[in-house]
Amino acid sequence: MSAANLLDFDLEGLAVFCEQLGEKRFRATQLFRWIHQKGATRFDQMSDLAKSLRGKLQGVASIEALKVISEHVSSDGTIKWLFDVGDGNAIESVFIPEDDRATLCISSQAGCAVGCRFCSTGHQGFSRNLSTGEIIAQLWFAEHLLRQRFGRTDRIISNVVMMGMGEPLQNYAALVPALRIMLDDHGYGLSRRRVTVSTSGVVPMIERLQKDCPVALAVSLHAPNDGLRDELVPLNRKYPIDELLQACSEYLTAAPRDFITFEYCMLDGVNDTDVHARQLIDLVRGRISCKINLIPFNPFPQSGLHRSGMDRVQAFGRLLQDAGIVTTVRKTRGDDIDAACGQLAGEVQDRTQAHKRMTRQPISVPVVVETTARPRPSSSN
Ligand code: SF4
Repeated sequence: MSAANLLDFDLEGLAVFCEQLGEKRFRATQLFRWIHQKGATRFDQMSDLAKSLRGKLQGVASIEALKVISEHVSSDGTIKWLFDVGDGNAIESVFIPEDDRATLCISSQAGCAVGCRFCSTGHQGFSRNLSTGEIIAQLWFAEHLLRQRFGRTDRIISNVVMMGMGEPLQNYAALVPALRIMLDDHGYGLSRRRVTVSTSGVVPMIERLQKDCPVALAVSLHAPNDGLRDELVPLNRKYPIDELLQACSEYLTAAPRDFITFEYCMLDGVNDTDVHARQLIDLVRGRISCKINLIPFNPFPQSGLHRSGMDRVQAFGRLLQDAGIVTTVRKTRGDDIDAACGQLAGEVQDRTQAHKRMTRQPISVPVVVETTARPRPSSSN
């Protein structure tokens, strides 16, 4: 029997695991803190855990870090890691430091089945769902590596966005325990407002997330009408815009924020005209509390699409703002380290398929951080 990866368990799951070992449930809290707050990788580091429990854990449990393929550091401080998840698959995580926050963008699947036209990951197709452990290992790795690198003992990552590779709501069973670990005060202690799930619009799962673990919600809209959205986000054929907006309105009744973020990737001549802007206004105004985030497209060769000019993006944004809709234009970050999300991983897949060897750059992995400091409480936005 293979050892259980303890990164797979939220606190309740770990309590059940401890009970199965004949231990008291409260041992799980100690164990959980060692793993997530202190970045422990070995049981003999867990000094306040009973020796007998440490002995039991040796044989039946492990803490499985992801294998790092590469790290790219941008001149603006953005860091992108590429992780090997086996069978020639790679996933990406991106750390984005800003003045008032530090965000980690996390992947939920290797590849993606949704196949959005403007998305490099979508073009690679779907390989497999990540486990809870593989999702949370991205946060575990980044948080403890950066603490070590920056010589800090307090929490570094203040926000998590599930906007990396994959459609998180198509990996629901693994996603929800990972979210619970992020939110748990004994884990990463992030506020619900600072954890965002981004979806292309899996309507039934939006409804479930509202009940199971409401966090901030972002929706990849990208088009103001069903005809165009069918082309850009194929999932729209199953869950059209009207149903999606209905689910979003319902979600807001339990959400930690009082608006939904709609992501809108600006594609030259495709969805960026004044007509599209007016359709978008008619779609959302008076119907749903929202913020529109205009995203410059990151071109990649197979897409056949082009980035809208900045003048066009500004003009589009002005129309929305003049209509009273809160609109932001996403800054591009880490431009000097690569282009679109999913491209690095796509290159790994291509190389693997060509039976070429992956280039591994050594990188230090988290070790136990000797501190008893509790994470800094989140301040709300
Ligand atoms: S945009 Fe998101 S949902 Fe669409 S293909 Fe890319 S990863 Fe999948």
